[in-house]
Amino acid sequence: MSNKVHLGHTARKRFGQNFLTDSNVINRIVGAIAPDNDHVMVEIGPGLAALTEPVAESIDKLTVVELDKDLVERLKTHPFLKDKLDIHQGDALKFDFNQLVEEGKQMKVFGNLPYNISTPLMFHLFEFAEHIENMHFMLQKEVVLRLSASPGTKAYGRLTVMAQYFCQVMPVLEVPPGCFTPPPKVDSAVVRLVPYKQKPWPCKDVDLLRHLCTTAFNMRRKTLRNNLKQMLTDDDFKLLNIDSTKRPEQISVEQYVAMANLVFDKKS
Ligand code: SAM
Repeated sequence: MSNKVHLGHTARKRFGQNFLTDSNVINRIVGAIAPDNDHVMVEIGPGLAALTEPVAESIDKLTVVELDKDLVERLKTHPFLKDKLDIHQGDALKFDFNQLVEEGKQMKVFGNLPYNISTPLMFHLFEFAEHIENMHFMLQKEVVLRLSASPGTKAYGRLTVMAQYFCQVMPVLEVPPGCFTPPPKVDSAVVRLVPYKQKPWPCKDVDLLRHLCTTAFNMRRKTLRNNLKQMLTDDDFKLLNIDSTKRPEQISVEQYVAMANLVFDKKS
């Protein structure tokens, strides 16, 4: 049998289908998620239910968002899961997670994500951060390194700044390709993201912060001064006590927020 067929389903590359098959890894992820009935539990991309089954075991209800209609049909008729699942067929990138908010409950969101959409999906989920207690995601290892990077490193970029603005980021475990069917071409890792209840560096306009980061990191080899000259003057940098001759990856999250707040103040 082809290694692309798992439990009678042929993995679809365009949906990023690499199914988890290693029970040790599955147990460790479920342990990190710590499923409970006090939170709205949400899985993105349940697939063939490798995480769905053990998570649903100990709780009353699990909401899932799955794009593949064939997999949704399987979940609907799954002997043990069908009564516990609240199934949404569709694209998680367009999904309004606000519709899942329940009075007095925060969400725990998790998933072994399709790697082709993981970065835009992170940005989408940050919009709902205030309703989320924590998130556990299997991602390409390189993306986990970017999420958790420190200033001054190669992995530090726009995704790092936005992720660390919204969340505490903790890598949980590394997962080699052999733990999946079919095996992905890259190494994977699980990350835990905990949205701040009180942000350490509050920003006056998050869209502006996002725009400023995109502009700053557009040309990584140029100086901050050069990349942000349309938004900030030499005097602005002096006021903020930021060395504008530095490269974008040398600037902390706190400093990015300070720059965005100054741009905001100058506009209002
Ligand atoms: N959770 C399963 C596991 O661990 O074995 C499957 C993981 S597989 C890497 C990714 C899953 O996300 C697949 O079931 C795929 O169909 C689904 N998927 C792909 N794109 C999606 C999207 N845009 N929105 C929701 N689900 C998506």
